[in-house]
Amino acid sequence: MTDLEALYRDLHSHPELAFAEHRTAGIVVERLSALGLDVTQGIGGTGVVGVLENGEGPTVLLRADMDALPVLEDTGLEWASTQTATDHTGAVVPVMHACGHDIHITCLVGAVEALVAARDEWTGTLVALFQPAEEHGGGAQVMIEDGLYEKVPVPDVVLGQHVTPLPAGMLGAHSGAAMAAVDTMEVTLHGRGGHGSRPETTIDPVVMAAATVMRLQTIVSRDIAPQETSVVTVGSMHAGSANNIIAAEAKLGISVRSFSEEVRARVLGSVERIVSAEAAASGATVPPTIEFGERYPVTVNDPAATERATAAFAAEFGEERLFDPGAISGSEDVGNLATAATAVKGSTVPLVYWMLGGGDPATVAAALAAGTMEAHIPSNHSPHFAPLAQPTIDTGVRALVVAAREWLA
Ligand code: ZN
Ligand code: ZN
Repeated sequence: MTDLEALYRDLHSHPELAFAEHRTAGIVVERLSALGLDVTQGIGGTGVVGVLENGEGPTVLLRADMDALPVLEDTGLEWASTQTATDHTGAVVPVMHACGHDIHITCLVGAVEALVAARDEWTGTLVALFQPAEEHGGGAQVMIEDGLYEKVPVPDVVLGQHVTPLPAGMLGAHSGAAMAAVDTMEVTLHGRGGHGSRPETTIDPVVMAAATVMRLQTIVSRDIAPQETSVVTVGSMHAGSANNIIAAEAKLGISVRSFSEEVRARVLGSVERIVSAEAAASGATVPPTIEFGERYPVTVNDPAATERATAAFAAEFGEERLFDPGAISGSEDVGNLATAATAVKGSTVPLVYWMLGGGDPATVAAALAAGTMEAHIPSNHSPHFAPLAQPTIDTGVRALVVAAREWLA
C-alpha cells in the first residue's frame, strides 16, 4: 500500500460533514506545510489553501472538496466508516465519504507532491485549494466571501475532478454546460388544522401537498421543450402526526436541476405558480412560503481550455482511456471559484472540471453489457459507493499534474 492509499483509507474512515472538516483540514495543512507550501487555513471556516510560487508564469488553481455525507456506510470495506456526527439540524447522523471527496483530497495531495518534486521543470504559481462544504452550504462561495482572492493569488485557470462509478483509469471532461444548476427550496403549505372527523372546518394541507406534488411533475413534460432538460424532484414531504388530526401545515423539500438560465427561470416560475395555485385551489387563506436553500450555478467547462486539457490527457493516457461523460444532472460549486476569479481579473478565468472513473472495470463492463448499470452499480451518495483505490488515485494524481503542467510553463 502506498502512502497515498494509506491517506485515502484514513480519510475514508474519518469522514466529516460540511464545515466540520477539522481533522481533514488539519491533515491537509500538515501535508502541504511539510511540502514547503505557503499555507493559509480557516478560509470560509475549514478551507485550506497552499500556494507555491515558482517563478514567472500563470497561476493554476487545483481544487478538491473535503466534506462527507450523512449516509450509513454499507460497503463492507475494511476501512469503512463507523462515524456519527451532529448535523446542521442538530440530529445525530451516520457519516460516510459517499461522494468520494476522500479520493479528491488524496489525489490533490499527491499532485502537489509530484509538482513540488518536479519544480525545476515548470514555472508559475500553484494554488492547491481544499474547500469545505460542497454537499451542503456552498463552501466555495463561503471561501470567496471570506476574502479568498485577497488571501491567495487569483488564478488564470481553475482545474478539478470528481470521481464517478465509471471504470477506474478512465477520465474525461464535457465541454460547455457540464453539470446542472441546482435550486433547492423548502415550501410550507399553510392549511388549517382540526379534527379528522370534521374536514369541513379545516383546510387540509395533506391533500394540498399531494395535489402539488403530482402537478409539479408536469413541469418537465408540459412547460419545457423536448430538446431541453430539467429535473424536478420532491425529495421530502412532511405533515401531520396522527390519523385523526388534520395538520395545520405541510412541508415539501424540492430540488430543481437545469442546464441553462432560460430553463432555470422557466422551471422556477412554474414551481412558484403551481404551489400558489394549488394552495388557492384548496382554499388556503395564507399563501405558501417558499424558502430557498442551496443554489449552485450551471458548471460550464470552457471549450478552449477543455480542449487543451483533453489533448494533454490523450497524450498522457491514450485516447482509449478518455470518455465524454456528457452533461451530468448532478451539481457542483467549483464554478464559483472561476466566476469569482473572472470578476476580480476582468477577463475570463476558464474552468475545466473532469470526471474520474473509480468503478471496477470488469463489473462496470458487465453491467453496461447487460444494461443493468443503474440497478447494479452504486452511484455517488449510495451507502455502497466504494471506488477502487487503484488505479483511481494514480490516474487522478496524474490527471491533475498533467492538466496543471499544461498551463504551468
Ligand atoms: Zn456529492
Ligand atoms: Zn461530490
